Amino acid sequence: MPLDIYDKLMMLAKRRGFIYPSFEIYGGSAGFYDYGPLGSRLKQNIENLWRKFYILKDNCLEISTPTVTLFEVLKASGHVEEFTDLTVDCKKCKQSFKVEEIIEEKDSIENTIDKDNIKCPNCRSKLMNPYPVNLMFSTKIGFGKSRDAFLRPETAQGIFIDFHLLYRYNREKLPFGVIQIGKGYRNEVSPRQGIIRLREFSMAEAEIFFDPKDKNHQNFDLVKNKELYLYDNKKEKKYSLEKAVNDKIINNQALAYYMHLTHEFLIAAGVDQKKFRFRKHDKNELAHYAEECWDAELYSERFGWIECVGIADRSAYDLKSHIKKSGTDMYATRKYDKPRIVKNKKIIPKMDELGPLFKKKAGEIKIILENMEVKKLDKISVKIDGKTIEIPKTCYNVIEKKEKQTGEKFIPHVIEPSYGIDRILYCILEHNFIETRKKDEEYRILKLNPIISPIKVAVLPLINDNDLSKIAKEIDLSLRNSGIETYYDEGGTIGRRYARMDEIGTPFCITVDHDSLEDNSITIRDRDTTNQVRIKINDIINVILNRISS
Ligand code: AMP
Repeated sequence: MPLDIYDKLMMLAKRRGFIYPSFEIYGGSAGFYDYGPLGSRLKQNIENLWRKFYILKDNCLEISTPTVTLFEVLKASGHVEEFTDLTVDCKKCKQSFKVEEIIEEKDSIENTIDKDNIKCPNCRSKLMNPYPVNLMFSTKIGFGKSRDAFLRPETAQGIFIDFHLLYRYNREKLPFGVIQIGKGYRNEVSPRQGIIRLREFSMAEAEIFFDPKDKNHQNFDLVKNKELYLYDNKKEKKYSLEKAVNDKIINNQALAYYMHLTHEFLIAAGVDQKKFRFRKHDKNELAHYAEECWDAELYSERFGWIECVGIADRSAYDLKSHIKKSGTDMYATRKYDKPRIVKNKKIIPKMDELGPLFKKKAGEIKIILENMEVKKLDKISVKIDGKTIEIPKTCYNVIEKKEKQTGEKFIPHVIEPSYGIDRILYCILEHNFIETRKKDEEYRILKLNPIISPIKVAVLPLINDNDLSKIAKEIDLSLRNSGIETYYDEGGTIGRRYARMDEIGTPFCITVDHDSLEDNSITIRDRDTTNQVRIKINDIINVILNRISS
C-alpha cells in the first residue's frame, strides 16, 4: 500500500524530533505519544498563542489544578455514571471496539449489531453483546485509609470547584472567564488513530461564567459581521454571527463569540480555512452536561473531519451539582438598583445534630435548609435524590430577621470552549505539509506560521570557515538572547541545510558569507518564497521580530 500523508508526516515527525510513539523499546502502548525537542516547542508555541487569545484578548484568568482528582468531584459532575462509551468485544480475538466507530447509526445499537450481522473488524468473527465502560483511569490517594480518585478526564472540574474563590477574586463581577491548560486522561477503548485518539492528551479549556439572564458578550458588536461556516449535519452554510444568533442557529451571543474566537485562533495557528467548519451536535449526541454544543472540525486526508474543539453551553449543570453535593455556597449575586429591606425567616442548621443523623448527606441538607424559603414552620422536609426526608426540629433554629438585601442569588451559567491541543497540532502539520521533487529527490516543506514554528531562524555560515563561524555564532547568540529560537548549522552544502530547515518549518535562514566580513551584512532567505535579501547585521533582530510576530 502506498504511504498516505499521515504515514509520511509521522515518519518525518519521528526522524526530526517532533513526535515519537511512547515506550517503544518495551513494545509501545496504543494511545501514548512522546513529544521530542521540536514537537515540545511547537506544542508550547500553540499553547502560548492560545493564551494570547484568551488571556490578552478575552481577559481570562489562568489557573492550574491537580490532574489527580477526588472521586467525590467526578461523582458530583456526573462522570462516574455518565462518562462511558458503549463497547463491544470479539468472541474470538478478544479485541474491544467502541460501538460508535464500527456502526453508522446510533439508534438501537444492539439491534444493528445483530440484525446487520456486524463482524469483528479485526478477525471477522461474531461480536458479543455491547456494554458501557467508564473511560476514567482510577487510582487511590495514599495507603491504608486511602481515598478513591481518578486521573481527570477534563480540566474543567478543577475550575468549577474553585468557582466561589475565583468569583471573589474577580470582585464578584460577572461575566468572567477562567482557563486551564493541562493533561486530560481517557482510557479510550480502541485508540487506533495515532495522535488523534490518545489516552493522555493536552487540553486547553476556558470556562466563561455568565448571568443566565444576560448571555451576551461585551465585544459581540465588534465581531457580529464576521462569517463562519456552519454545518447542521445536513448542509454547510456561511452565516454572519449576527444572523446565526438572530435566526437561533446559534443559541446565544456568548456561544457565537467563542466560536468566532476559536476560528480566529485556529487560523492564526495555521489551519487551512478550506478544511475548517463548525458542526452542531444533534440532540442525541450531546454530552450529559451540555445544552448546546458546536465542534470546530478540521479535515484530515487520513481521518476525515476531526473534532478538535468542542464549544458547549453547559448551563448551570456543574455548579448546581457541586453546590448540591459539597454544600458550598457557589451562588453569584445579581445586584438590585437600590437595597431592599425584607423581613425574613431563616433556618439556621445545626451541623452537630445533622451530621450524626444524616452522615454524608448532612452537607447537602445544610445548604438546602439555608437557602429554603420558610413558610410553614411545623414540618420541614427536603428532597434528595427523589426522596423526601423530614428534618427533626432539633436539627435547626428558625430566626426572623429584618434584612437589607442588596441583590438576589443565582447560579451562573457556563460557556465552555474546550480545545484538544494534540489534534490541533496534528492538523496544523497536515494542512501545512508540502511534498514536491527537487533535482529528482523528494523535497518536503512544512509551511508553519512563524509564530508557532519551533525554530524561527537558522544561522548558517556559507562554508566551514573560522571567520564566518565566528560571526555566525555571535549572531546566533544575540538572536537567542532576544528570545528568538535558532538553529546553528555548519555541516553540509548550503542547499542541504536549507532543505533540513524547510522540512521542520523554519521560516528564515540567515547565511553569513565572505562579503559579511566586509559589509557587515548577511542574507535572509524566506522559506515560502525562497527569496533572499541582504540586510545589515545590526538590523537582524528587529527584522526577525517584526516578521515572526505578525
Ligand atoms: P470533549 O470534552 O470530549 O469535548 O473533548 C474536548 C477536546 O479534547 C476535543 O475537542 C478533542 O480535541 C480533545 N480530545 C478528546 N478526546 C481525545 C483523545 N482521546 N485524544 C486526543 N484528544 C482528545
